[in-house]
Amino acid sequence: MAKQKVSIVGAGTAGAILAKNLAKLGIHAVVYDRKYKPGSPQMASGILSIRGLESLKINYKKAVTNTLYGARVHAGKSILKILSEKPQAHVVDRQALNEICIEEAKEAGAEFVLGKQIGSNELNELSRESIVVGADGAVSTVAKHFGLSGKTTYILTYRAEYEWPNEEKSVDIFFDNRVSPGFFSWIAPVSKDVIELATGIDARFGNAKFAFEKFVKAYALDIAKKKPIRAYASIIPLISKKRIVDERRGVLLVGDAAGQVKASTGGGVILGGNAAIIAAWAIKENLERNAPLNSYEKAFYKKFGVDLLLHRLVHRVYSSLDTKGMEIAINIMNAVGIGEFLSKHGDMDSPSLIIKRFLHMSR
Ligand SMILES: Cc1cc2nc3c(=O)[nH]c(=O)nc-3n(C[C@H](O)[C@H](O)[C@H](O)COP(=O)(O)OP(=O)(O)OC[C@H]3O[C@@H](n4cnc5c(N)ncnc54)[C@H](O)[C@@H]3O)c2cc1C
Repeated sequence: MAKQKVSIVGAGTAGAILAKNLAKLGIHAVVYDRKYKPGSPQMASGILSIRGLESLKINYKKAVTNTLYGARVHAGKSILKILSEKPQAHVVDRQALNEICIEEAKEAGAEFVLGKQIGSNELNELSRESIVVGADGAVSTVAKHFGLSGKTTYILTYRAEYEWPNEEKSVDIFFDNRVSPGFFSWIAPVSKDVIELATGIDARFGNAKFAFEKFVKAYALDIAKKKPIRAYASIIPLISKKRIVDERRGVLLVGDAAGQVKASTGGGVILGGNAAIIAAWAIKENLERNAPLNSYEKAFYKKFGVDLLLHRLVHRVYSSLDTKGMEIAINIMNAVGIGEFLSKHGDMDSPSLIIKRFLHMSR
């Protein structure tokens, strides 16, 4: 068997995509996961941009359950409609997507050790003989062990899926600081038979299940009278920019462990997957040419740093406004045609691309 050069802790999408890309570059990696079915706890659906999914270079299509054309953003009585004529995003079954990533990594030659929890003793041992990558999610043991933790705000979410035949092709997003301070609630058509209701709340301001019940009551959502097919709570980490490489000890972080999450929406699959692709190249250069691993951190922030900042700015603005303030903001956006502009030129992953498109048009 090939010598283990890279040890990856966590076989979520970020860890599995990294393992596949390393294997394709001829580098042997072993991926450990404490679960036999890896991924965030009780992963369900995710809304991922089509452009972003394509950038991951995985055969994701079998995980797609619906295709969306846009979003309606609600605050008080106002609605901002961002509805494109072209498909913008897929709803994907994230467990299925994770399994596809693992299968592709195995086919490329990566090794998986599932059902194995990695703690401090194992990390000390693994870091003596290989590069260690923390792809172990929002509450990362690797980040904590190697002192790479950043300042984190946690968004608590509660989501429930209901059997509900529908033809819906857009997601509805609700800003209401009486219900979900610091984040928002949403109604998403998971498939033609299933609708998801969900609420996220800044952990400093309350409890997600309680906020969810308030959401259902405030918007008289009859659908919630049914028994959900599944319901669960989970965590989204919003981490400010931090070190994601420990050069001396040969440690890197990717995915949620590295805070590679859009603060505006909590989406992290595309960013974490792209970071994994960049990390694979940096590891190859390090092993073959002794180039610094830090080139990963530099390349990641060069490519995504501005967008990460802009997502954080968007989050800061909407979480500082009360419902009335958001309602006024939406009225202003409608008055100056922002909904129309975003319907034609929007991009859910890259605010900087939207700005570039705007500047290009106004020339
Ligand atoms: C409610 C909710 C909705 C979301 N919706 C979206 C969305 O629509 N679009 C989007 O892009 N993103 C979404 N996200 C974010 C997305 O889920 C994460 O960004 C993504 O799953 C992160 O992938 P990851 O591989 O970094 O970590 P994870 O998927 O969390 O995987 C980490 C893995 O590490 C393993 N692990 C942890 N510790 C150890 C250890 N000590 N030893 C061994 N194994 C360990 C875990 O078992 C797990 O399998 C959402 C998140 C939540 C909570």
